[in-house]
Amino acid sequence: MNLEPIIGLEIHIQLKTKSKMFCSCSNLGENEPPNTTVCPICLGHPGTLPVVNEEAVKMGVKLALALNCQINRQSIFARKNYFYPDLPKGYQISQYESPLALGGHLTIVKGDFEQRINLERLHLEEDAAKNFHFKDKVLVDFNRSGTPLAEIVSKPDFRTPQDARNFLQELRLLARYLKVSDADMEKGHLRCDANISLRPAGEEKLYPKTEIKNLNSFKAVERALTYEISRQSRLWEEGTAPRTQATRGWDENEQKTVEQRDKEESADYRYFPDPDLPPLIFTEEAVSDIQSALPELPQAKRLRFVKEYGATLADVHTLVEDEAVADYFEKAISEGRSWLEAENDALGTSEEIWALNKQKLTKLIAGWLLSELFKLMNAEGIGIGDIKITPENFAEFITLVYQRKVNSSAAQIILKQMFATGADPSHIMEEEDLTQLDDAATLEEAVAKVIQANPEQVADYQKGKTPLLKFFIGLAMKELKGKANPEKLGEIFRDKLR
Ligand code: ZN
Ligand code: MN
Repeated sequence: MNLEPIIGLEIHIQLKTKSKMFCSCSNLGENEPPNTTVCPICLGHPGTLPVVNEEAVKMGVKLALALNCQINRQSIFARKNYFYPDLPKGYQISQYESPLALGGHLTIVKGDFEQRINLERLHLEEDAAKNFHFKDKVLVDFNRSGTPLAEIVSKPDFRTPQDARNFLQELRLLARYLKVSDADMEKGHLRCDANISLRPAGEEKLYPKTEIKNLNSFKAVERALTYEISRQSRLWEEGTAPRTQATRGWDENEQKTVEQRDKEESADYRYFPDPDLPPLIFTEEAVSDIQSALPELPQAKRLRFVKEYGATLADVHTLVEDEAVADYFEKAISEGRSWLEAENDALGTSEEIWALNKQKLTKLIAGWLLSELFKLMNAEGIGIGDIKITPENFAEFITLVYQRKVNSSAAQIILKQMFATGADPSHIMEEEDLTQLDDAATLEEAVAKVIQANPEQVADYQKGKTPLLKFFIGLAMKELKGKANPEKLGEIFRDKLR
């Protein structure tokens, strides 16, 4: 049977405001001792009144606009009623009939092509407290109670678990660029429920879905969905496809989903408008002010890096993954460009010089940044914000490589020293005497020595064992303390041994 998976996501993003959604308690309670960032409002005492946190609303609007949603001119907070120990009011303040925003989409990149994932809505709500289960008791920490959340509901637009994972990763990146959330799944700043059903390929109708809860990592989302596809496929093959909606939880240890209590229908929550909170009203002007203050978003940055700098898609993806890395890269490029222009100002206009050289410069900068510099950073476990190499010095380093003033092994040594001390690359090059040896007489002398000392290998080479060239270059390089230009050595050897 040819079955098609239909997947949708429901995502909660914790907004990183200073205070909570409806009271002035600190929103950093996760780093504080239990039950210390609380007040009568977020503890749900009777007679208290919530007040909307303007910063949380602004963050919600930013996120909604970045996701291309339509902001409702008026949105309404509603009470979602249910009983649970982590919810002392007996209801959660959320939004139901008039959410903050409707529609929207996010584009995910799949190799060379893009896929648009459509969204249903985005609304604001407060988080519940957190239960801690012990052997014989449950303790409640109210620090999280009242934390602002943005809930995003997607349309069932995903067809593979990998797409769902890509979407979540792109959403995390977006939230970080907007500075509305760290969106760390492991810390629960980004939480995701996935729903999935299957249908015979070609059919338009949707079948009852199964919701999967407790997905705490990107990997878990992908694995749980993959597991469900094979479980539900089996049910279809056996003629027992799910006939009602169900809820399952992901068991990380067993790597499988397990059945949970049946999900309440929305009717069970007895939603109604919260009489304590006025509607949120947005003027066109207020929305467009926020819209025009949005930063450049990841996908726009990727496209610009390709267009402006001639960077490769693969490099661009890694560069944009961390905004600080993207900024560093751009600063280095701009320094490199000034240098190129100063160096070649007789050869044309600045645009012409740039057009001729940008690809080569970009490739060097991205290459050294993403491989060698990242390697050094990873070994120390630090991010680009903490390194001692300024983008200016990094660009200068690249110009040494660009001009072949140093060969690649000398360049590695220089970069390592820059990383350790933050020193200037030209300075290190001179201090350590690492300037590439280019002078023909010196190179020829070393080549002659190697040829004289290895008559057997020379004879083999001349009989056709050409890979020996590498061996000769290695010996000459050693003779010259690793500073020679390897291409030139190769040329001289080929010439002398002909
Ligand atoms: Zn409070
Ligand atoms: Mn929710």
